[in-house]
Amino acid sequence: MRKPIIAGNWKLNKTIAEAEELAAALVADLADVRDTEVIIAPVYTALSRVAEILENSPIQLAAQNCYPQETGAYTGEVSPLMLKDAGCSAVIIGHSERRQLLEETDQLINLKVKKTLETGLLAILCVGETLEERENGEMLEVLTAQIKGSLADLTSDQMADLVIAYEPVWAIGTGKTASNEQAQEAHSFIRGLIQGLFDPETAAACRILYGGSVKPDNVDGLMAQDDIDGALVGGASLKIEDFSRIVRFGQ
Ligand code: PEP
Repeated sequence: MRKPIIAGNWKLNKTIAEAEELAAALVADLADVRDTEVIIAPVYTALSRVAEILENSPIQLAAQNCYPQETGAYTGEVSPLMLKDAGCSAVIIGHSERRQLLEETDQLINLKVKKTLETGLLAILCVGETLEERENGEMLEVLTAQIKGSLADLTSDQMADLVIAYEPVWAIGTGKTASNEQAQEAHSFIRGLIQGLFDPETAAACRILYGGSVKPDNVDGLMAQDDIDGALVGGASLKIEDFSRIVRFGQ
């Protein structure tokens, strides 16, 4: 009942020409994919050009961040409205690189989530613990604070347009993936949190993606877990063969 999502986070990579080339290759390669939603998130500067390439394909376009205001004196920022105008249907919010490098708080992330949903875009909310937090036994506490803080004041109806990405920080870009069991444990815990904050139907319908060194050789095991509904893929989303194989998990 939960349609899988495979999302590629291109991070700070690819010029406009390179982004166009990769997007065109994906459109050609993934034309027959129906049972999985595919999303790609290039840098801001490439969004509108990539949007043109994706126009008649099922691949959706996401931004990697947004600012929680529509317009105004916010130099250097980009709003969900502008992203929609550029052709995006989704926004990644609260990625650990932004939480760590730019000190984004759950309070700011919550504002971004709300503005994204108000604008009619899908919000892909990232949460996850650091290695230190895991080793100190604080994982569940950290996930609870991130989920509660980021989803504050949302309604069950709004949750229909929100996807959670569980991304243990120690597994991002490190080549270390959480084991299938570690990932399942965290996903099941997050689903329980959603049930407590909202209701059983909202929890059962909420898609929870795993992120952290997802590769062609580990995606099948991860996707076989009950509470893993997709993947947010960094490094491997830049390689056409790897990303295509991940999209075709289990085949
Ligand atoms: C990410 O950037 O969200 C990510 C999971 O990166 P990687 O797949 O490279 O670990």
